[in-house]
Amino acid sequence: MTETLLTAAPGAQEHPSLALVNSAGNAAGGRGYDELSTPEAATAWLAARDLVRAEAVLYEHCQGRLVTLRADLRDLFTAHTTGDAPTTSAVHGLNSALTSVPGALLLRFDPQAGFTRRADHPVTQVVEHVMAVIADDAASLLSGDQASQLASCEADSCQRFFVRTHARRQWCSTRCGDRVRAARAYSRKRAIPSAQVV
Ligand SMILES: [Zn+2]
Repeated sequence: MTETLLTAAPGAQEHPSLALVNSAGNAAGGRGYDELSTPEAATAWLAARDLVRAEAVLYEHCQGRLVTLRADLRDLFTAHTTGDAPTTSAVHGLNSALTSVPGALLLRFDPQAGFTRRADHPVTQVVEHVMAVIADDAASLLSGDQASQLASCEADSCQRFFVRTHARRQWCSTRCGDRVRAARAYSRKRAIPSAQVV
């Protein structure tokens, strides 16, 4: 884990898509971090959120696909909070993650159990399933009741998103809020003497 990576932003525990977007960026102070920087880190990140079993093995290719999905989600979340149009490739990326696994429950026959229905997902498709779950969550978040509460942190250099717990919330964490207030107080103090010089 990188440094003291803040507490999860509001909404990140309920929304794996929000957590994924926030898994890389600049932390307070501008230092970059990436919680999915290796296949092992990506596996641990998913396991911590019950998205895969702890013994799951992700390869570099899977990690790369998650990182690509993350970039697409960041594009969509950014478009949502700025009011701009998202890139078509980001929309496409989300939709292909949504549909990369068969959604239909297939009919099976077993002499002992008789007819059963279950999804067809071999263990080799672990990452596809995770991506479908995350993409589904993102699609619901962007288009559902909570869409208007999805916001980006207004602290300088912080790139996290969060779900507003109240209408005026501007920061992803108290740490960001404190940092901004401290910076404002500092610039006010400096502004007085320089104003006198002029
Ligand atoms: Zn923040």
